[in-house]
This record gives sequence, structure tokens and C-alpha cells, in this order.
Amino acid sequence: MYRFLAVIPTWGIALLVLFAATTTLSQPHIESTVTAHELRVFDPSIVDASIDPCDNFYRFSCNNWFKRNPLPPDQAAYGRFTELFELNRLHLREILEEASKPAQNRSPNEQKIGDEYASCMDTAAINKLGLTPIKPELDRIAALRGPDELPALLAHLHTIGVDAFFDFSASQDYADARQVISFYNSGGLGLPERDYYFRTDDKSIEQRKQYVDHVRKMLVLAGESEEQSAKDADTVMAIETRLAKASLNVTELRDPQNLNHPTEFAALSRGLSHFKLADYAEAAHAPAAGKANESEPKFMAEFNDLVATTPVDQIRTYLRWHLLHAYAGTSMPEAFETETWNFYAHILNGAEKQQERWKRCTSRIDREMGEALGQVYVSKYFPPEEKLQALDMTLAIEQAMSKDIDSLDWMSPATKQAAKEKLKTVMNKIGYPDKWRDYSKLNIVRGDALGNLERVRQFNFNRELAKIGKPIDKGEWTMSPPTVNAYYDAQQNNVNFPAGYFQTPFFSTKEDDAANYGDMGSTIGHELTHGFDDEGRQFDKDGNLKDWWTKEDEDKFKQKAQCMVDQYDAIEAVPGVHLNGKLTLGENLADLGGLWLAWIAWQDKAQAAHLDMNAKTDGYTPEQRFWIAYAQQWCTQTRPEQLRSQAQVDPHSPDEYRTNSVLQDLPEFAKSFNCKATAKMVSAKACRVW
Ligand SMILES: [Zn+2]
Repeated sequence: MYRFLAVIPTWGIALLVLFAATTTLSQPHIESTVTAHELRVFDPSIVDASIDPCDNFYRFSCNNWFKRNPLPPDQAAYGRFTELFELNRLHLREILEEASKPAQNRSPNEQKIGDEYASCMDTAAINKLGLTPIKPELDRIAALRGPDELPALLAHLHTIGVDAFFDFSASQDYADARQVISFYNSGGLGLPERDYYFRTDDKSIEQRKQYVDHVRKMLVLAGESEEQSAKDADTVMAIETRLAKASLNVTELRDPQNLNHPTEFAALSRGLSHFKLADYAEAAHAPAAGKANESEPKFMAEFNDLVATTPVDQIRTYLRWHLLHAYAGTSMPEAFETETWNFYAHILNGAEKQQERWKRCTSRIDREMGEALGQVYVSKYFPPEEKLQALDMTLAIEQAMSKDIDSLDWMSPATKQAAKEKLKTVMNKIGYPDKWRDYSKLNIVRGDALGNLERVRQFNFNRELAKIGKPIDKGEWTMSPPTVNAYYDAQQNNVNFPAGYFQTPFFSTKEDDAANYGDMGSTIGHELTHGFDDEGRQFDKDGNLKDWWTKEDEDKFKQKAQCMVDQYDAIEAVPGVHLNGKLTLGENLADLGGLWLAWIAWQDKAQAAHLDMNAKTDGYTPEQRFWIAYAQQWCTQTRPEQLRSQAQVDPHSPDEYRTNSVLQDLPEFAKSFNCKATAKMVSAKACRVW
């Protein structure tokens, strides 16, 4: 995802899975083996009945899937999300290949996605051009003479998607969610997050050495001598370490209170004594007045100091690295992309083979022009009856949440009232936007892969910029329609479910409610619960960062949530690395609350339909099938390297715990399988918040 262009800071959006966030993911081995109708939401063929469901429900539900799906060499993790992701990607490829035929009757959007795909696939042309297309940018950096010239240069680099020093974006005002203002955030790191620069265990020390080596190799590829590149890589590491030291870590970033520092442009500008913010704003065409948010004042102060105390040749080196880093994908000669894959996908996450070119190009266009591609996708793969059923399920789960709030024994009537008002205000967005994004001002030239990338990034930057000072458009989406994921937006108080997700094996109009509610229903509940997790609960029904809790209720919430912090802190994901209970709290709350809501909604529906709860299908009762369908969405094989990265940076717990730890907290699950109180799948200290 475009971190730099994020409409909302990373924390503001709660995703279902952190999935397409790195270049590592998603290799398919399913090219010709899996078709949509073979995937099922409740799949009895992947259950391993030789495993006791009360001992390890995850393995019971998934073991035959694991046997059938060995981890492909080009995957860091491979699960049912990847299964669907790859299937969707095949569908997108068909659309792109058709659009890439230079026919007369292509629509303007088809011309753009088709020509962009053709340019991306033309590796011979890309390799032949070498660094020529990026030379003007390298020359601009080489021409930097002193700190006075930095603001204009940095502004230009930001407009073309280079994440150097800080991050500038357009985001909703914390105090008044109707308005979009300028946000100045931390940024400029090449490692995944702040703590990577400071952990003292052997593995982390080794990873830092490997990172410096990666920077060095990239500089050599760009023409530097071995000697110079070694010196320069150390410079990059020193500058980034300084920036990292002043940055918040991933856990701190989850608390909006840590980021809420409203200011005025003039005041921010005065604070940056060595960096002329007015010059930056002018070059970026950003507002040079009005309200702004300085997300991390400590970081901006360090940046200001760094500008004053760092020799200009070192700043040039740092910028050169970040330019290469930002463009080392499908637009640059393959050696750059392979080296980047080697560090981020192979070393950090364990993948053994790079994905095929067409997959990288397809994903690139989904990232860059997702709505142009998505418009064709939904017309083919998301029929109106699916949208209707999806909406019906969402409404049923919202009703279940209202009932759940009423039943809470720890919350006062006043807070319950406010919670229900917030729930009533949640906007449901299903499938795709009502109004499609307008790409008419974007120029895509066949045969110019790197120029296209630069233009698309500029286009996206300008789109964001144009929002500042205007009321928020809540109809906009931050995920493309084919995405296999979902999110809750705390400042907009809406849930968003892309069309790409409402497919088997997560949802099917051909399967029954037990399967659909256990699986997709739990996801709908998950997103809804985000509005009431440790982050989401800090925003009111209008998306303002405003307390609507009584002090007593807040204390009780924190106490109940602490049970889950302790539960997940105790889990050792890989030897020596525990899960971070605070980092994963919001997602764990959403998993548990979401599944509970799906359960209530489904029970109500089943009762109304007089469903026979003893009648077995495929050997299981409806209740058992509900839980199995829940567990089967998480069947995933993960490499230890990826598991390690995930435990360190991902707010989501690994899939095994998203299954077993959640179910251990639900006595209703244990009852469905007649688990004894002493069984592993029954927690002696079950947590429950929502
Ligand atoms: Zn989530």
C-alpha cells in the first residue's frame, strides 16, 4: 500500500489481514489447479478427523489442507487468503491481457491499464534503457548544494513517491473529522519499522548487517565503486538510525493520542529553523497556511537538527538510496528488483523464489490504478445478488451487536447509549465505490514503464493534495475492489468490504448460513468490532477523536482488555520471539468480538428458520460447521522468517492463534464439540470484552 500517500495514517485503518503490504507475498502454485467452484467455504475434505478438535482445533480443521498445499518456494506464507488472492489475480491478468491489445475500441481506462501492463511486461525494453529514465532524478539529487535547496528537492521527491526524511499527507482532522488537513508524519526508514534499528538479539544484529549490505549492493548497481558504496551504505544506516531513534514504534503508533498534535503551518514552519517549510510547500504545491498536524514533534525536531548537522554529501547519499529504493520494482532493470526481493522477501521473510513477472505487473496495476482495473473486475465477478446477500449479513450482524451491547454486564446505560448511537451511524460499504475514480488526467504511455510509474505517483499525490481544506468524501475507498481484505475506518466510522473478498472460500451464495456466518460473518463482525476496540473506541460516532465513555466504564474496558494483552503476550511465535499483546490487542479484540457477533446473528437466524441443530451434514452439526468454517479461513503455512517479522511488526496475530486462542475464550465452541474443561481448547481464564 502507499504508505506515503495514505489518506489516513496507518493506524486509522484497521485491516483484516496485513497481506499485500510487502513485496514478499503471494506466489501462486495454483495457476491451473484451482478453480472457483472447487473452493468451498465449509470444506469437509480438508478436516483431519484423526485430530481431536478439543486438542488443536486449527490442525483438526486445516490439516488436510496443509498436506495438500506444501509451501511453494516463492511464498513467504501461503494460506486460503493467498488461494483466493491468486485466483483473483488470474482473473485480473485476463482483463489486463485483453486490454493490452491495442484495439481501436478500448475505453480510456482500458487504454491506461492495458498499455501500463504491456509496458511493465516488456523487460527487454526496460533492461535496455537501464538507469536512463531515472537519470534526471539522480542528477537533481547530485546538484544539491546545501540545506537551502533541500526543501524544494525533497518536495519533488515526495511528489514522485520517494519516502525520504518525513512523510507528508492529507488526512482528516482529529478534532473535526469532516475536514481534511495537512499531516506531517515520521518516515524515511528502509527497514520495516523503528525497533529494527535497536533490537540487540543476534538475529536482529545480523539483519542490520544484511540491510547495510543491501544498500551497498543497490548503490553498486547504480554505478558506485565498491569502496564508495561501503562508505555510503554506512552513512545511510547512520542517518536512518538517527531518524528511527526519534520515531514511535509500531505499538506506540496504534494510539491516536500519540499522534494528535494540532498546529498551524506558521508555527510548524517556525519550529523547523533549518528547513524552509514554505519552500517545501511551494514546490509540493501544498498549502502554506492553515491547520496542520505534526504527528511526531520529536521526530520533526530531530529532522531539523539532522539537516543542520549533516554534511550535504551525506544527505545526497541518503536521498540517492531512497530514490533507488522507491523505484526498484518492475520499472527498473531486473537486477535492482531482484536485489530488493532478496533482502525484503528472502532475507526478512524467507521466500525462496521470486514471483513471475505477470504477477508482479498485475499487482502493480491493482496498486496504482485499482479502480480502473476494478471496474471491469466487478462487472464480471460480483453479481448484484451477492452484494444484496452481503448487505443482508452485515445488517444482521449490526443488529447482533446492538443486542450484545444491551447484554453487557460491565457497561453503564449512558455508555451503552453512546455505543449504540455510534453503531447506528456506521456506514456499510460493500463491493466497490458508488462513484468511480476519475483517471482522465493520468497519462500512460506504452513503452515507458518508469515514466508511467512516476506519473501515476504524481497523479496520486496530487489527488491527495487536492483534498486539503475540503470536506471529507466518505464514499472513497482505500482498497481496490479486487482486494482480498477488508477494513474499518475509525475517522469515517465505516466498514469496507471489497468485492474481491466476497468469493469462495470465504463466502458463497451456494452454501448455507452456518458456513457463511462462521467465515464471512466473523469478518463482518471483526470490522464492526474495530469501531469499539482499544483504538476505535476513542473516536465518536462522527469520527472525531473524542471521549464518549464514563471514567468507570473506561477503566472496566481496560481491565477486560488486559486479559487479552496477557493471553497473547504469553504466546511464543518463534523461539525467543513472543507475540506483542499490546500491538495485537485491537485485532485480537476484533477477532473475538467479531466471531461472537457472527455467532449471535447466526443463532437468531437459525432459530427463526427452525433449523434442526442435530441434523448432520458431511458428518457435522450446523454448530460444528459454523466453527469449522471459521477456522478454515485461517489455514495458512508460514515460513519461520515471516512468522518472526509478523510477530515484530504486524498488529494481527498469526493465523494459528487467530483460530485457537480466539476459540479457547468461547465456551459456546467447547460445548459444540463436547470439550472437557481440562482440554487444551478450553481456556481456564477465558477473556471476553464485547
Ligand atoms: Zn482487523
